[in-house]
Amino acid sequence: MRTIVGVGPYSGAMRRLVAVLVVASMLAVSAAPAATAQISQPDIIQEHWYHSYATLTLDVNAWADEHPEIVNLLVVGNTELGRNLWMLQISDWGQETKPDGTPKDVVYIDGGHHGNEHLGTELAFLTAEFYIEGWADGEQSVIDVLSTTELHILIMLNADGNDFDTRWNVNQVDLNRNYDHYWNTCPTTQPGSSAFSESETHANSIYMNEVVPHADLYITMHTGVWIMLYPWGKWPDQPSDWELFHFIRDEVNSNISDIPIRNANQGLYPNCGTSRDYGYGVMGYPTFTFETDDEQFLLGSVESISERLGEELDVMQYLIRDVWYWRARLIVESIVIKGDEVDAHVVNLGRASTTNASLHYTDGTGELLWSSSLFGVNATNETRVTLDGGNLTLVEGGTWSINYQKRVIDASMWVNEDVNESVIEKGAGISGFLPAPSMLIVIVSFALAAINRRNDKFEH
Ligand SMILES: [Zn+2]
Repeated sequence: MRTIVGVGPYSGAMRRLVAVLVVASMLAVSAAPAATAQISQPDIIQEHWYHSYATLTLDVNAWADEHPEIVNLLVVGNTELGRNLWMLQISDWGQETKPDGTPKDVVYIDGGHHGNEHLGTELAFLTAEFYIEGWADGEQSVIDVLSTTELHILIMLNADGNDFDTRWNVNQVDLNRNYDHYWNTCPTTQPGSSAFSESETHANSIYMNEVVPHADLYITMHTGVWIMLYPWGKWPDQPSDWELFHFIRDEVNSNISDIPIRNANQGLYPNCGTSRDYGYGVMGYPTFTFETDDEQFLLGSVESISERLGEELDVMQYLIRDVWYWRARLIVESIVIKGDEVDAHVVNLGRASTTNASLHYTDGTGELLWSSSLFGVNATNETRVTLDGGNLTLVEGGTWSINYQKRVIDASMWVNEDVNESVIEKGAGISGFLPAPSMLIVIVSFALAAINRRNDKFEH
């Protein structure tokens, strides 16, 4: 039996039937270790609102069994009590890249750092469910997202705390103060004995670093005050990529939801060692803490949980659909080489700025022959720069690329992207390759390397 709660395709009557079956199944499994903690909850009816570790385990395995073409299910670590940390990897796995051959965009989502913040955990669940069921139903917008994007979703990080209905993990540590970013430097409670002292946060950091270092969005789900928080928690200052965060804030508030979107330190209170600040300050991701609600529990019908979080899910769909924009996206419109100068026209189609772009010129073996000085390109803007090309020597088979960080924050990833040959122009007076004093050195070094056909590489 599939024991999913509040899921899409059922009719109202069917949902109520499912709810009854779920309650029945929970009573039936109440002797299992993972379910015993639930007996202490005040109302068995309330339990079917929220996932226990046991019901989550059933649901994610059912998804993996039913939709192997889009769902990879992994265990990426264990809680302190040994429960599995289930990771869903959701994408159209029949295609390794986007249809145009470029790498898919990567989104990372986790829920359930705090075991008593069930609505946050449910929003992570509903996000996964939306894409899996949308795919099954053949919804074109979902198919489009899954053909271009990888979603990595860890729904319940603190499975031990979830089943005990406590904020902390079993060691009484606040997992969202246990990350290695200014750990234990704020007035805080129960941050653990050291950064990543807990198996749950340690596993999460390993996954970030080893599997999704390229992510262009990280959302961590909580419940408390209805708000979305961007970095920093540590400082009241706006983050380096404030333009990106403010753009998203304005778009969400104009078109989707009135949810307040603020710097975490100002919007909530100073907090350190959070996964949000770690995600931005160490991994370089654009990060949000999504605080879904100010209610710790609900009364009502099965339908309400997805309806209650419908607006929040709309925000998630927007953030995921537009993930391509959450970084700098530089396009080199032209490179004109004239004398000792290189004029470049570079457009940024992304919503994040970059401050340290440079042009690279590389020979056929991949050796860097020349790089320009650094220049910046603001979000949704363009730059025309004149660069010193005095040391530039063109060789046959040489290629151009642009090298930059995806965002302003120091930690953000560097990318090196090819420049289309067709945008390179050699200005008046330049025929063939540039004569330059360094040409002699290049020729000598090639000769010393005794490479055949070396002379064919040059024209004069
Ligand atoms: Zn929380």
